[in-house]
Amino acid sequence: MTAQKIQKRLFGTNGVRGVAGKDLTPELVFSIGIALGHLRKGRIAVGRDTRTSGETLAKALKAGLLATGCDVHDCGILPTPALQYLVRDGYDGGAVITASHNPPEYNGVKIIEPDGTEMGDEETIQLEDLIFSPAPALTSWEKVGQEMQVPDSTDRYVKGILHHFPGSPGKGMTVVVDPGSGPACITTPKILEGLGCRVLTVNGVMDGTFPGRLPEPSAEGLKNLADLVVSSGASFGVAHDGDADRAVFVDETGQFVEENAEFAIVVQNICRQKKGVIVTPVSSGQVVEEAARGESCTVQYTPVGSIYVARTMRSLQKKGEPVIFGGEGNGGLIFPDHQFCRDGGMTAAMMVTILASSRKKLSDLARELPKRHIIKDKITANKGAEILALLPAYYPDSRIDMTDGVKIYTRDAWALVRASGTEPIIRIIIDAPDPTTGSALFKDLKLRLKTIVG
Ligand code: MG
Repeated sequence: MTAQKIQKRLFGTNGVRGVAGKDLTPELVFSIGIALGHLRKGRIAVGRDTRTSGETLAKALKAGLLATGCDVHDCGILPTPALQYLVRDGYDGGAVITASHNPPEYNGVKIIEPDGTEMGDEETIQLEDLIFSPAPALTSWEKVGQEMQVPDSTDRYVKGILHHFPGSPGKGMTVVVDPGSGPACITTPKILEGLGCRVLTVNGVMDGTFPGRLPEPSAEGLKNLADLVVSSGASFGVAHDGDADRAVFVDETGQFVEENAEFAIVVQNICRQKKGVIVTPVSSGQVVEEAARGESCTVQYTPVGSIYVARTMRSLQKKGEPVIFGGEGNGGLIFPDHQFCRDGGMTAAMMVTILASSRKKLSDLARELPKRHIIKDKITANKGAEILALLPAYYPDSRIDMTDGVKIYTRDAWALVRASGTEPIIRIIIDAPDPTTGSALFKDLKLRLKTIVG
């Protein structure tokens, strides 16, 4: 039932990434365009985030698609979920030039399936085979594709979100938006204004040099957002990553809301309205499961990566299971009534309605969640996969989940141990009800890993 993870040559969990002009060259992106053209044919929607290298790479991608006979609809600069929303309306596929949360020098390509989801492992491997094939055929002169611009490409997306929230639930509410100079500059303020909010912005002008903060919306980078929230008396502040498929929040006191807490607050709200299954990776905080179970809902775990969450949600839904929500503990939340991908604009809108309907402050909602203590660490180790294969035998009395890495459950805590696919590193997450239990489990785990490593 759960999507299985398959290692790929070029693509990572969310597309291809690299330093523009060095790892991610126009030549490589041109070859991705040719491969995608062969695989999908027909009409392909192309978009990009605000990075300075975006236009060059988008042109390379479009050239590859056109050279194989595809028609290209250029949607310009827009959030990844906005392109995903458009692709479902009769496109044969899509692609976004974006490096999401990576620093400004990076760029990347995310491939979108006709149903608006990110491309899964099996199709990506087919695509990679075409990219690495020696001489892909290009179409003859009379069959070369045509390019057209899609004007106002974000309007349908904004309207599509507002459609879920009739009335003006944000009336009387002030919200500060930090799109981080990314493509959400032209969407999230409009969405929140459409809900009736008074909207102020930080880093609200699109700029691929990201002068205000890095594309990763970390707590440290959101000081200006937090300051404006407090000084303006706003209900909350919301910030996006570089392609706005994620949203993170600061509460009305300027305090960063940890992403698992954010996830759990939305889980609680959705589970109070309908009962069903929440889908999330094994790495998500226990607070999410506690929030779901507290409202008589269940959790289905997947490998780490939003595509596995989205695919599992779809497959469960096809089997008739009541899938009501999904997401990751990094602010990437998936609302299946809207679309099967992470959507930062939708997440921001949802927070407005949660605060409006609960009549509580965001800091109160965060404080009322079940308390958990999380430890994250990594150790340097070669042959991580071999070490992990031996680890379960060291915990004969524990429940072990091998969905992604090794997740060891003790009475009321767990440890997740995963080997990096690209570096000689083993990553550890401990999730416990209190610091004492967490530290004891962490110490014990490190001791056993040391015994294995020898
Ligand atoms: Mg992203």
